Amino acid sequence: MNTIAVVGSINLDIVIRVPRIPRVGETIHHGDLARHPGGKGANQAVAASLAGAEVSMIGSVGMDAAGSELLSSLKAHRVDTRYVTPVTSTHTGTALITVDANGSNSIALAEGANSTIEPGTVADAVDQLAPRAILCQREIPDNVIATAFSRRNRHGLHILNVSPVEQAANIPMDDIDLLVVNQIEAEQLIGAQTEAMDAATTLAQRTRRGCIVTLGAEGVVAHIDGHKIEQPAYSVKVVDTTGAGDAFCGAFVAALLENQNPENALLFGQAAGAIAATRHGAQPSMPNSSTIRALMQTA
Ligand code: ADP
Repeated sequence: MNTIAVVGSINLDIVIRVPRIPRVGETIHHGDLARHPGGKGANQAVAASLAGAEVSMIGSVGMDAAGSELLSSLKAHRVDTRYVTPVTSTHTGTALITVDANGSNSIALAEGANSTIEPGTVADAVDQLAPRAILCQREIPDNVIATAFSRRNRHGLHILNVSPVEQAANIPMDDIDLLVVNQIEAEQLIGAQTEAMDAATTLAQRTRRGCIVTLGAEGVVAHIDGHKIEQPAYSVKVVDTTGAGDAFCGAFVAALLENQNPENALLFGQAAGAIAATRHGAQPSMPNSSTIRALMQTA
């Protein structure tokens, strides 16, 4: 079975659309409010499930209304939630997102339950699931990520989306097959302004198999198994880029588990990211496999 264990964050996204992102000390009026299920982990779990994979989510929510809402959303997308631990000690993770008229965003995050995930709980879950792939992001503690990857060190595919990138130096990359980063994250990881393919090549050397650098409307570059890959993006009418990276990651990993070669899996991930950019919100903008294939065929 193509089981992916997504070890990651589960958040409620509270989104206000405004003409432009407020500066420090400024209030922008006449916003439109929306609430969406989010969190990079949950978004990527939903993206991978819609793209055709069997997905189990490993994470934590608060025992509050938001936590129940988020669990329901995951279940509605056929994501296995048996390994999501509800906690009473804190609230469900919450993100305050402002989106401007161009679809650019700015985000403030209160991690809440996401920061209470225990390495031991994750180790047990990974042992029981024996997944074919483990997909992590960095909205949960680093020791949890390290535990998840070390647990099945010789089995399966280990993918880390190094987002957010802050203090990523602590992460042991030799347990990781593939890194996924956007251009800003790549430069922050390297510590210098670097051309995207050079960044992918440099970062690939720290991993077992490679690195993918996503470039928004410019597409993607990657260095995987010693091969350099460069692909332009699909051309779409952008509404809100929130969640494009999550759509890419979930769909890309789902495609890899279907034994697609890296080039085709990248195209599939790119089509998912492009479609997510044409829709509002993060999790609600994740496309299913037939929509992804339709864009790939028409492009
Ligand atoms: P992140 O959201 O992590 O910053 P990106 O913005 O690089 O990630 O988006 C991930 C992928 O989604 C890109 O590599 C691309 O394939 C697709 N994508 C994102 N924005 C656009 C866009 N404006 N037009 C077409 N594709 C896009």
